[in-house]
Amino acid sequence: QVRVRFAPSPTGNLHVGGARTALFNYLFARSKGGKFVLRIEDTDLERSTRESEEALLHDLSWLGLHWDEGPGVGGDYGPYRQSERNVLYKQYAEKLLKSGHVYRCFCSNEELEKMKEIAKLKQLPPVYIGKWADASYEEVEVELAKGTPYTYRFRVPKEGSLQIDDLIRGEVSWNLNTLGDFVIMRSNGQPVYNFCVTVDDATMSISHVIRAEEHLPNTLRQALIYKALGFQMPCFAHVSLILAPDRSKLSKRHGATSVGQFREMGYLPQAMVNYLALLGWGDGTENEFFTLEQLVEKFSIDRVNKSGAIFDSTKLRWMNGQHLRSLPSGELTKLIGEHWKSTGILTESVGLFIEEVVQLLKDGIDLIPDSDKALSNLLSYPLYATLASPEGKPVLQDGLPEVAASLLATYDSGELLGALEEGHAGWQKWVKSFGKSLKRKGKSLFMPLRVLLTGKLHGPDMGASVLLLHKAGSSNVVAAQAG
Ligand code: GLU
Repeated sequence: QVRVRFAPSPTGNLHVGGARTALFNYLFARSKGGKFVLRIEDTDLERSTRESEEALLHDLSWLGLHWDEGPGVGGDYGPYRQSERNVLYKQYAEKLLKSGHVYRCFCSNEELEKMKEIAKLKQLPPVYIGKWADASYEEVEVELAKGTPYTYRFRVPKEGSLQIDDLIRGEVSWNLNTLGDFVIMRSNGQPVYNFCVTVDDATMSISHVIRAEEHLPNTLRQALIYKALGFQMPCFAHVSLILAPDRSKLSKRHGATSVGQFREMGYLPQAMVNYLALLGWGDGTENEFFTLEQLVEKFSIDRVNKSGAIFDSTKLRWMNGQHLRSLPSGELTKLIGEHWKSTGILTESVGLFIEEVVQLLKDGIDLIPDSDKALSNLLSYPLYATLASPEGKPVLQDGLPEVAASLLATYDSGELLGALEEGHAGWQKWVKSFGKSLKRKGKSLFMPLRVLLTGKLHGPDMGASVLLLHKAGSSNVVAAQAG
């Protein structure tokens, strides 16, 4: 059975890179009918916090990446926090000591520092020289009797190489002589990160490890531990980095990088998920719009690219607009309505026509908060009030005074208002005859009309805008002001 895991360290916010790793794991599990496990890697007790863990869980749930096993859900392979699995790590460390894959190292920190300096002077790689690797039983007993602190070191084969067949990168191979015997348990009994991960992945029966490329050096150590413990190795898939447009590693100086920041800016989880999936993956067609369900259906790990993916916030914004517009009308109205309520921009008159207003504005916005400006643009122009004085309106090359004069006449006679009372059909009929009387049509009619009636050169559908302004005007509530 396919079992994958997302294994964040609760030491900060969920970064877009982490979210993409979680997403690829989720999609892989769902597309294979497998399980998606969430494991909290809180071995770094000083930097790990419960608040971070809660924020992580919240972000994942918000994205819709629900886990089958893990905190809050439970499962047969728990506990799912590394800090609660110490007994297990101890047990496996002892097993490795017994089998000789691990030995006790009594070197003090000062001694290790000195070894490093000497290696540097001799221009040798800074690897542990294995001083205690072949110590006799008696030598060890002497130190134990003295109570000298010791670490557990993993005995790395001194020659040969190790290969993995990475699902994304193909064969990856390491020369073992570059790796010294490494510590798996510190002198205070704390197991070391790589050891915990291996024991966890093995005992949680993880079949595929999908994670960021920066973990490749860890994979070498973990693979050695797998072998020593006699566990079957999982398949590995190392996903490339997410890069900024300048191809440097994406970081805070490039703007928002955490899922929470994007949520606060008004991004939809659907758009985040869609965009993150496209960072290094595509279904092989031109199509870029996917719901989470469609991604599950289309995802395949062979299509994940091994080169770095560029994070393009302009495209993410555009994509958010696509998702926003594809929401069912009621849902979008609710979202925008709630937003307008929270910003105080929602007036009574807008409330009356909110669904129409939202339909009118949605084409011009990518993010929910963009709707503030769109709404005040729409409503801030007092319809009719300045018909007579074209000053202050955008200047048109042609026709403004002439159209203004006729428009004023049709307003004064009550003809325009009468037409607007009849709704869309009335408006269309009026525009047609108004144009005829002026011998104008198309752009030469609509541009001056738009400027005169809405105060703007561009905007949503003119008829719908004018009808709304009319309704809002006659329900006696005029302008909403954006902050
Ligand atoms: N805890 C690691 C991290 O936050 C992930 C390790 C792994 O996926 O093996 O980057």
